[in-house]
Amino acid sequence: MLVDSHCHIDGPEFAGDFAEMLGRAADAGVRYFICIGVGADGARRALRLAEEIPGVYATAGVHPHDAAAATESEFSAIRDLLRHPKMVAVGEIGLDFHGDRAPRDAQQPTFERQLDLAQETGKPVVIHCREAEEAVEATLARRGGRLRGVMHCFGGTAAQAARFIARGLLVSIPGTVTFKNAERTREVARATPVEQMVIETDSPYLAPAPFRGRRNEPAHVRLVAEAVAALRGLSFDDVARVTSRNALELFGVRDPEMEKASIVYQIRGALYVNLTNRCNAGCVFCPRATRPVIKGHNLGLPQAQEPTPDEVLAAVGDPTRFSEVVFCGFGEPTLRLPELLESAGRLKAAGATVRLNTNGLGNLQWGRDITPDLAGKFDVLSISLNTANPAQYEKIMRTDFPGADNFGAMLEFARRARLHVPQVVLTALDGFPGVDIAACERIAAANGLAFRRRVYDELG
Ligand code: SF4
Ligand SMILES: [Zn+2]
Ligand SMILES: [Zn+2]
Repeated sequence: MLVDSHCHIDGPEFAGDFAEMLGRAADAGVRYFICIGVGADGARRALRLAEEIPGVYATAGVHPHDAAAATESEFSAIRDLLRHPKMVAVGEIGLDFHGDRAPRDAQQPTFERQLDLAQETGKPVVIHCREAEEAVEATLARRGGRLRGVMHCFGGTAAQAARFIARGLLVSIPGTVTFKNAERTREVARATPVEQMVIETDSPYLAPAPFRGRRNEPAHVRLVAEAVAALRGLSFDDVARVTSRNALELFGVRDPEMEKASIVYQIRGALYVNLTNRCNAGCVFCPRATRPVIKGHNLGLPQAQEPTPDEVLAAVGDPTRFSEVVFCGFGEPTLRLPELLESAGRLKAAGATVRLNTNGLGNLQWGRDITPDLAGKFDVLSISLNTANPAQYEKIMRTDFPGADNFGAMLEFARRARLHVPQVVLTALDGFPGVDIAACERIAAANGLAFRRRVYDELG
C-alpha cells in the first residue's frame, strides 16, 4: 500500500482523465490520497472528492502565496470546513520566500493564525516551506512545544530536517528526490529515519524522473518510494508500509489492513515471530503498551489472537528461506512456554536456525528452572541484560516480581541456559542514560557469555 500524502488532484489538470488517473494510482498500489485544499474554494473541491471517493481525504488552509489576499470570510469558511470528518489537516500553510509572491509581513501572521487554528481544531498541519526553513524554524521555536504535522516537499538540509523532527513533525520526500541536481533532497532521504518520513507527489507539479517536466500524478509516488528504498538500502515494501502507516497515523485515517496484528515480520534476512504482546515487565523505553509497531508492522496482538504453533508454522512457511527465525516482538515469548517450545522445536526440525529474544525472567515466571526445556530447540538465546547495575535494572524493567532479585535471576537464567543452548548472548541498549556498556561487557565475560550492544537501529 502507498499513500500520496500531498497532492492537488482537485484542479483542471485532471479534468480530462480523472478516472484513468485513479486507475493508474490503484495499479501502482496507491490507496490513499491527501488532497490539499488551497484556500476555501480549493478546500471545498478537495472535500467534494473526499466525499465521493473513499481513499481521498482533504485539508484546508491559506497557502502562503495567497496570504495577502485572504479575507476574514475565507478564514471562517476554512474553520467551518475543518469540522468535516474527512478534513484531516490544516494546510498547506507556511512561508514561501522564493519570489515572495505575497509580502513576508502578510505571510507570517497568516501562517501563525493557522497554527493557532490547528491547535484549536486538534488537527495536524501541512507546512509548505520554500527557501524559508530558518523563518519557519524560528516561528515554531518562538511558539514552543511540539507540533503534529508534516514538512511537505521538504527542500531544506538534513540537519534542518532533524530539527523539525525533534519538534514532532514528519518530513515528506517528494519526487524531486529523483532529479539529477537534487543531491540535498537525497541527503535528507538518506539521513531521515523512515519512521519519521512520508512521501508525496505534489501532483500535478514536480513529476519524478523519468516523467520530469510532465504533469505529475499520484501513481508516481511509487517512484518516490523506490528512490527512498534504493537510497536507504531498504526494500520497497518496507518503505511503502512504514511511510503509509506514518501518513495514516498523522492524518487519523484508519485502515483495516494496517490495524491487523502481524504474527511474523521480516527484518533483513531474518524472520521474526510475534507470539504475544504480553510481558512480565514494563521497561521504561518499551513502546509495547503505547505503540507496538516495528517497521510499520502492528505487533499489538490481542491475547485472543495469539497464534497456535500450527498458525506460527503456517505463517513462517519454509523456514530455511531465512537466515534465522527469531521469537521476539513486543512481548515476552516465555509467557507462552508450551507454544514457544512446540513452535521452536518444529521449526528446528524443519531446518531453521532458531533464536529466542527474552528478558531472562522465565524461571521467576514459572517458579522453576525452564532452561533444560530449551535444549535442542534453540540455536541462540539473546537475553536483555539492559544494565550492569542491579538497582538500575529494577528501575528500567519494572517487573511483575517486586521484591525478587530480578537481576540475579536473569543472570542465573543466562548461566543455566548456556548448558542447554549453543549460544547465549547478553545485550544492552547503547546510549541509554546511565548504562555502562563496558561494565555490561565485563559481566557477560565473567559469566562466560557473549555480549552485543543493541542500538535503536534504523530498520532494514
Ligand atoms: S521485556 Fe521486552 S517486551 Fe517486555 S517490557 Fe521490556 S522491552 Fe518490552
Ligand atoms: Zn506546497
Ligand atoms: Zn501543495
